[in-house]
Amino acid sequence: MSDRDGLIWFDGKMVPWRDANVHVLTHTLHYGMGVFEGVRAYKTDQGPAIFRLKEHTDRLFDSAKIMNMDIPFSKEEITAAQIAAVKDNNLDSAYLRPMCFYGSEGMGLRADNLKTHTIVAAWEWGSYLGAENMEKGLRIKTSSFTRHHVNISMCKAKANGHYINSMLALQEALTDGYDEALLLDVEGFVAEGSGENIFIIKNGVIYTPDLTSALNGITRNTITAFANDLNYEIVEKRITRDEVYIADEAFFTGTAAEVTPIRELDNRTIGNGTRGPITEKLQSLYFDSVHGKVDKYKEWLTLV
Ligand code: PMP
Repeated sequence: MSDRDGLIWFDGKMVPWRDANVHVLTHTLHYGMGVFEGVRAYKTDQGPAIFRLKEHTDRLFDSAKIMNMDIPFSKEEITAAQIAAVKDNNLDSAYLRPMCFYGSEGMGLRADNLKTHTIVAAWEWGSYLGAENMEKGLRIKTSSFTRHHVNISMCKAKANGHYINSMLALQEALTDGYDEALLLDVEGFVAEGSGENIFIIKNGVIYTPDLTSALNGITRNTITAFANDLNYEIVEKRITRDEVYIADEAFFTGTAAEVTPIRELDNRTIGNGTRGPITEKLQSLYFDSVHGKVDKYKEWLTLV
């Protein structure tokens, strides 16, 4: 990824992609204390537009606050940086990666002499979980790795180090021949995927786990708004893995994953083993909205 043309916003200015480098003694590289976002821009009739830019920027600042990191830029500056990262790279659609990390001024855990650096990179990135799975659905497996405990990791923060747990779970699932992992919380209730929130549907009611160890996903929030607007009953509650087995439909949500159906958990077919009708409705509304085709949700788009 490092050897390509383009520009990366780095501490206030655009630098050539290949020159956006840091030292090997970068603190965050050693201990994982950093915060980031995953944001997408989509092609619309009026040019590229960033979906829910405000919410992603707010969550980045919330994550930094939780981790006690001082971002030396304002929200307005980081907002402008994200717009510039899409524009200056001439992207029609993009995945954006804002990140704040500590520099190489020291190595102690005290972290009292460190500079916080900020980057925003943007590049073209297609369907995260595979284009064919958008229709066919994923085969997933309950992970042997437990999701974070709320008093060990700060789960409202999208923090770099949290993703060790995600990667262990995903690698295990892929090695075992599945598409994605489903992580349970410390009490054994369904939490989320390695990088997605989960929803299930039973008898026309949509359920999603309440937010303890799962990230407060922005796509999760979008789906909740859709469900309310479409008059579906939507309930946040603790969910067990066997409730997923006997659900009529299930799907993952995430900025990268978008809305991806799940057709199987632990070798049990969910519903009729394909994308269910409510999932399809929410998924198509999601894609129409991000592409600026639904007036009601245009307020979520920031034109570049
Ligand atoms: N959970 C985890 C662990 C994630 O990494 C993500 C992706 N950011 C999500 C859920 C979904 O969040 P969002 O919809 O805000 O992308």
